[in-house]
Amino acid sequence: MAAVNDPSEEGVAFFDLRQQLDHIRGEITAALEEVLDSGWFANGPAVARFEEQFAAYCRVPHAVAVNTGTSALHLAMRCLNVGPGDEVVTVALSFVATTWPVLYLGATPVFVDVTPGRYTMDPGQLEKAITPRTKAIVVVHLYGQCADMNPILTIGKAHGIPVVEDCAQAVGAEYKGRRAGSMGAIGCFSFYPSKNLGAYGEGGAVTTNDSEVALRCRRLRDHAQVERYLHSEIGYNYRLNSFQGAILSVKLKYLEDWTERRMRIAAEYNQLLYDGPVVTPASCPDGRHVYHLYVVRSSQRDPLRSALEKRKIRTAVHYPRPIHLQPAFKQFGYHTGDLPVTEEVTQSCVSLPLYPEMSLVYAQRVADVIKTIGIG
Ligand SMILES: *Cc1c(COP(=O)(O)O)cnc(C)c1O
Repeated sequence: MAAVNDPSEEGVAFFDLRQQLDHIRGEITAALEEVLDSGWFANGPAVARFEEQFAAYCRVPHAVAVNTGTSALHLAMRCLNVGPGDEVVTVALSFVATTWPVLYLGATPVFVDVTPGRYTMDPGQLEKAITPRTKAIVVVHLYGQCADMNPILTIGKAHGIPVVEDCAQAVGAEYKGRRAGSMGAIGCFSFYPSKNLGAYGEGGAVTTNDSEVALRCRRLRDHAQVERYLHSEIGYNYRLNSFQGAILSVKLKYLEDWTERRMRIAAEYNQLLYDGPVVTPASCPDGRHVYHLYVVRSSQRDPLRSALEKRKIRTAVHYPRPIHLQPAFKQFGYHTGDLPVTEEVTQSCVSLPLYPEMSLVYAQRVADVIKTIGIG
């Protein structure tokens, strides 16, 4: 064991995969060799095994592994028959990938604002955004905390509109005892390396309680083959690489430990920063926040970031520009001022260093420096 390093000397990384790899390297290389020997390199037994384990983790009967989180979202929207002329109600405070599939399918995104506490879809805005053309609602469990699902599911049900959960940042998160990805019609996960459950490459998954949806996703990811060389509809090559399936099975065993570490570090930050100068995240008592990101808000975000950077404390911004104001979304006619809470968050948010292996000493150093600088 190395001695605890001094964060004032060496700085604090935003994120670090190295220590985790050192810890599981033996198991990972054994899993990779097993795939090599199996002769299956796309889908196959390693992927099937991971799907079973991942479904159990999410407390759903079905998980279908795919090559990226973006593909998972695309398959979800295809399964709900989103197409030209349809509208999909979603949020603009997210990574852009939440919304790409709406554009891939020729549909129109309708953005609603988020709530200032949770940073997720404001149920009060949802009802007003629904029209006869609304085909799906896509919520994002942002930063690791679930959206306020009950009112959203109630509105969806009243209008007969299915709810998709973008769980890319929320694997293992809970809302009133239910896991992310088990509440709506379809859950979509990403295993991009920096996510809470990250592949050493790319990966994603769709979760569902509906066996028909699972079967259709299984087919769609494999060129929509219903039997060999018989293609029932437009399909995709969204299969998961078998090496990633094997890696994810190894990592899934550690996910609860890693999540608890994330929550412990977040609790340390919360305790040290509760009285300012930045606004700490509201962890709602109705669920489990898995802290994919620890995001605070500051009215002087950029000066705060520079001051931290000078002391070798690395931060990030998720996200500096909301989706509705992206050049690629210009055709939909949104303007600054349309989503005031979303826009305010993009100007004030800053993500502090947090990864499971991070020593609490580092969190204390970051909090100390923030308090010393006094920029809120
Ligand atoms: C990472 C992410 C995605 C996209 O996942 P990829 O695996 O990178 O395609 C989608 N939505 C959110 C909220 C994300 O954070």
